[in-house]
Amino acid sequence: MDILSAVCQPDIRENLDYYNKEMEDCTDYYRDYINELLTEHDERKPLMFVEQRVDFSRFVKEGFGTSDCIIIDNDTIFVIDFKYGNGVRVDALNNSQMMIYAIGALEMFDGIFDINHVVMTIFQPRLENVSTFEMTKDELYNWAFTVLKPAADMAYQGAGTLKCGDHCRFCKAKANCRARAEYNLKLAQYDFKMPDTLEDIEIESLLGKLDGFIKWAEGIKEYALKEAVKGKKWNGYKLVEGKSSRKYTDEKKVAEKIIKAQKEVRRASQWSC
Ligand code: SF4
Repeated sequence: MDILSAVCQPDIRENLDYYNKEMEDCTDYYRDYINELLTEHDERKPLMFVEQRVDFSRFVKEGFGTSDCIIIDNDTIFVIDFKYGNGVRVDALNNSQMMIYAIGALEMFDGIFDINHVVMTIFQPRLENVSTFEMTKDELYNWAFTVLKPAADMAYQGAGTLKCGDHCRFCKAKANCRARAEYNLKLAQYDFKMPDTLEDIEIESLLGKLDGFIKWAEGIKEYALKEAVKGKKWNGYKLVEGKSSRKYTDEKKVAEKIIKAQKEVRRASQWSC
């Protein structure tokens, strides 16, 4: 691109609804991290694949996904996942999501390259978390055949039992999963006596569970609201307009846009007179 066209390029950030500076900084850190990794392995001319679709359907029926970045350097494959969230620190150690993506990457590239090592990295800039876990290719395939495939087959056939836990917070079915509802409702059935009649040990056991219970209840409300906005009717409930607590991230830009809009309205009214 020549200098003139570079200068004349519109700044696409202006029209992005969810753009903010922190987001841009985080993607810059991610780019720098990938660049460093490539530089470290520079002399062997590593190959890089960005937003690469990976297919792991040999182990999880109909399973596929998109890997943020895959780098192949000699006998090592790097699978990198960018996580923008900052709610939960995600560790790469024995992380099944990373291992599934890595299996997908192996399925794609192992026949072409002589891969022996797999390095899986979670890059989570807002928590300053860069977590890496390494396995040999054989260890990863062994896990895929002995753990992943049997569990995925069972789930596909609707067999087995659903296991609730911390992992539910990432599940797409969490709002209307019956197993999770039953698990949380057990808490609600707890005989809530006045706190001073509860034994310390009972309070301690409840404390550990309350956060999960509250999150579950909030998740149900959020799900019901989203569905209502889409048009679903819930008996006994109706949508009412609430007070918005949204804040502008760049007040200066908002002021500029309002002034610009006012000028356009004025100009338009002059034309129409
Ligand atoms: S919400 Fe239900 S389906 Fe999702 S992980 Fe939890 S138990 Fe499994």
